[in-house]
Amino acid sequence: MASKAFSLMIHGGAGRIREVQDPLVAEQYHAAMLRVLEAGRERLARGERALDTVEYCAALLEDDPLFNAGTGAALTRAGTVELDAAIMDGTTLGVGAVGAVRGIANPIRLARAILEDGAHVLLVAEGAANFARQAGLPPIDESRLITAQRREQLERTLRRGTVTLDHDESAPGTIGAVARDQRGHLAAATSTGGMNGQRPGRVGDSPIAGAGVYADDHTAAISATGLGEHFLRSVFAKDLADRIELLDLGGTEALAASLRRLRDRLDGYGGAIVIDHAGRCAAGTTTPRMIHGWIEHGGASETRIDP
Ligand code: ASP
Repeated sequence: MASKAFSLMIHGGAGRIREVQDPLVAEQYHAAMLRVLEAGRERLARGERALDTVEYCAALLEDDPLFNAGTGAALTRAGTVELDAAIMDGTTLGVGAVGAVRGIANPIRLARAILEDGAHVLLVAEGAANFARQAGLPPIDESRLITAQRREQLERTLRRGTVTLDHDESAPGTIGAVARDQRGHLAAATSTGGMNGQRPGRVGDSPIAGAGVYADDHTAAISATGLGEHFLRSVFAKDLADRIELLDLGGTEALAASLRRLRDRLDGYGGAIVIDHAGRCAAGTTTPRMIHGWIEHGGASETRIDP
């Protein structure tokens, strides 16, 4: 395969995703993913960086109320929108991340601003929102991010007294994008509203490098989705990258091994998308479904909902 070929993968969350039994809903997901993949393809094909492309694709997915990130994010049990996001540059191992930030339309852009600033890796809550202002990202009224569907979802969850993975509540999930550009550089981005009905202040795996996001040009770019506590405890993304580096596995084999460990050790619930250093795409999950799509080595766009 030509070394100049680029690869791109995105995901829109994992879980039962029962709503896709309605073919019209399934079609919406496929169409939404295809739009983002084609927009990403255009950029990578004209030589843009993996880092810029994953930020761009993640922001598009954040803006789509179908997904649990940015507009349409899941709500905390207090009815607030608290967003987690991270972006990682596989060339420098630079990371920018935000946790539990409020009043921001595109947390992935804020994460990128933190990466570019370089002083810190992770900013949370008010400090993150204040930095957004300094970085020129305008504050927005939180109500603009809340959809009627999310309010209903939260009401159902509170009635039952549970906390749920967004996709197990018949509504869409966390997003991620990973890419390898024509120069062979890797980058990863993950963004989420977290778990439906979570405690205010809870931060999941998505903004934590090595758990829900990771990129290293020598190994892979990874974005995970699922029950964040499982991915934090298993240090999932770094476990996967280590398998590539230390055991000399490809992305597909490493992902299978890390998912096996997640299942066996933690009864872990979730999945991931992976592009390895050679540009090969892999996806897998322990859940019944995962919304995901890919372009491998500049080939056709593929989208899947079943694993
Ligand atoms: N991993 C996310 C979290 O725990 C949720 C998800 O992937 O849907 O915050």
